[in-house]
Amino acid sequence: MESSLTARDRVGVQDFVLLENYNSEAAFIENLRRRFGENLIYTYIGSVLVSVNPYKELEIYSKQQMERYRGVSFYEISPHIYAVSDNTYRAMRTERKDQCILISGESGAGKTEASKKILLYYAVTCPTNDHMATLGDRLLQSNPVLEAFGNAKTLRNDNSSRFGKYMDVQFDFRGAPVGGHILNYLLEKSRVVHQNHGERNFHIFYQLLDGGDNDLLTTLDLERKPQNYHYLVKGNCPRLSSVSDKNNWKVVMKALSVIGFTEEEKLLNIIASVLHLGNTQFGEGEEGETYITTETQITNLAKLLGVDGAALGEALTHKKLTAKGEEMISPLDFEQAVSARDALAKAVYGRTFTWLVEKINQSLALKPLMLIHPLGCSVIGLLDIYGFEVLQHNSFEQFCINYCNEKLQQLFIELTLRSEQEEYETEGIAWETVQYFDNKIICDLIEEKHKGIISILDEECLRPGETCDVSFLEKLEDTLGGHPHFVTHKLANGKTRRVMSREEFRLLHYAGEVNYNINGFLDKNNDLLNRNLKEVMCQSDNQILSHCFRREEVIDQKRPEMAATQFKNSLTKLMEILMSKEPSYVRCIKPNDAKQPGRFDEVLVRHQVKYLGLMENLRVRRAGFAYRRRFEAFLQRYKPLCPETWPNWHGRLADGVSALVNHLGYKAEEYKLGRSKIFIRFPKTLFTTEDALEA
Ligand code: ATP
Ligand code: MG
Repeated sequence: MESSLTARDRVGVQDFVLLENYNSEAAFIENLRRRFGENLIYTYIGSVLVSVNPYKELEIYSKQQMERYRGVSFYEISPHIYAVSDNTYRAMRTERKDQCILISGESGAGKTEASKKILLYYAVTCPTNDHMATLGDRLLQSNPVLEAFGNAKTLRNDNSSRFGKYMDVQFDFRGAPVGGHILNYLLEKSRVVHQNHGERNFHIFYQLLDGGDNDLLTTLDLERKPQNYHYLVKGNCPRLSSVSDKNNWKVVMKALSVIGFTEEEKLLNIIASVLHLGNTQFGEGEEGETYITTETQITNLAKLLGVDGAALGEALTHKKLTAKGEEMISPLDFEQAVSARDALAKAVYGRTFTWLVEKINQSLALKPLMLIHPLGCSVIGLLDIYGFEVLQHNSFEQFCINYCNEKLQQLFIELTLRSEQEEYETEGIAWETVQYFDNKIICDLIEEKHKGIISILDEECLRPGETCDVSFLEKLEDTLGGHPHFVTHKLANGKTRRVMSREEFRLLHYAGEVNYNINGFLDKNNDLLNRNLKEVMCQSDNQILSHCFRREEVIDQKRPEMAATQFKNSLTKLMEILMSKEPSYVRCIKPNDAKQPGRFDEVLVRHQVKYLGLMENLRVRRAGFAYRRRFEAFLQRYKPLCPETWPNWHGRLADGVSALVNHLGYKAEEYKLGRSKIFIRFPKTLFTTEDALEA
């Protein structure tokens, strides 16, 4: 007894609900710290998995480990990402309900690694479908490709996902993976033309320069050194010790071929063209006119883009306007030319990324044979999306990312906290309400029609005349002045703790305060590409580009939706998808900012525990019941265990359930009967009953 106590002291409890002092944040963090010290990075809060990034390879992901978790109940074995994968899979199979696994946490906390481990678990352990033997491979190989094009080194993570990803894995009636589909969210396009100090552009550029063979680089007119390319050196960080660009290049090329890609050449032409665009320089003539100083660059660039060189040069230095039905050409000044060039680079890269996702989706698509199968198929969705972000300088991108996290928190509240409490109330179960902060007020502040920040931003972008970032801020102040979660320099009246500049607004997010600098908000939301650049691009003979730049876009003068509104709409759709599924949660925590193994920074961890809402989660879970079943379902399943209910019970359902649990010897503290359901507090009780059924 004594030795097991010591072991428990040493490794902590594997489910936070077992913590004696479950209201204490300090006890919670101490439990995490102890387990982390023993390389036990996983702990449950009921069915939620908390994971702490070990920043080192642990021997816990082998095939043998996968076998250990197959078909085993959650609570019989130590917590693991494989247990969540397996449980979700079994729930999908037995309950025939679509599932989703929501992985959250801040940048570098281990979301992407977790999602890859789940996918690997399914690829290895699920039965394979004869028609689609390679689907598992293709699902797995989609990751290196998307990471090469959508991930980058940032200060927080050497392999940071700069886009959000939701992936459906579709299974047939036998439980074999038969298809996949990816939805991508808001790629951080600004990184193509600018990186903060210590950060890099997307991996693929460096991989190509380091890994591409000499012939390839000659064809693309590229030199090996990243230092020669303006778009690669803004962050002054061309190489990384933790990453081999050369090896990864090979991995990516192989992955492209597994996926069944035949457009490598066209794709690489585009990647190279972005680098050449970055090196396209402008000069200013005596009359203030702008011209291109790197003429040879333009020739090569035009060749790679598959467009006419003269037309491209003209479109980079002039703008086409339509006034009173007449077309006019007006020259761009130096700054306008630079931003037209950067806008083109961002558009080319961003649209190519979207095309790449479409291409992967085609390769993963469910074959029509599956669609018509009478038993249909079920789905497990995996969400790996950017965590809450607070940087030194926060801009439009952080605004969108943090808005996304507010929405996910809403969903979490909706699906776990609120629905749990509401169910106890409707069932008339005695229950101590747990207080939690409902962040709907912040979601509304951002997204409400007409009055929300996004609406105001769009309005300001569309308003004719002189609008600018400052006029946007003034409009925000006028409209949102009294809002408890919105502050600016003017509104604060010196009352805020942190000094604010006149170019910022502050949102009091559920996870903490963030100051957003308004410079660039309008441009980024507008995301405009001059019409004549579009015209040039849609004539490209590179099929990827002609697919990405459609002629209709030039002809159709209707303004497309702006960036923030597009994002808002895609989030609304995402929430609908997630709401229609049974969710499981993986909450990832980053133990230190130095990306080092063995270091557990308590202040950092406490902050994450707070904003992931883990304490509220635990309190609700502790106060609640692990399992609930409708009386009919419970009786139907377990009636053979009791002579009174077997073969049929003819009285009131609640009485039948009572007779059954009395016969099974349930103790009063183990269960409660609601109006239509039985609530069972501990999972163990149900396991014992299940075992009795099997015996
Ligand atoms: P971002 O939001 O920036 O994309 P993320 O949450 O996706 O961050 P990951 O890229 O998954 O973070 O993890 C960051 C790094 O931490 C990984 O590259 C890896 O080095 C390490 N890491 C994360 N999880 C694990 C794990 N389970 N075992 C070993 N190392 C891990
Ligand atoms: Mg990631």
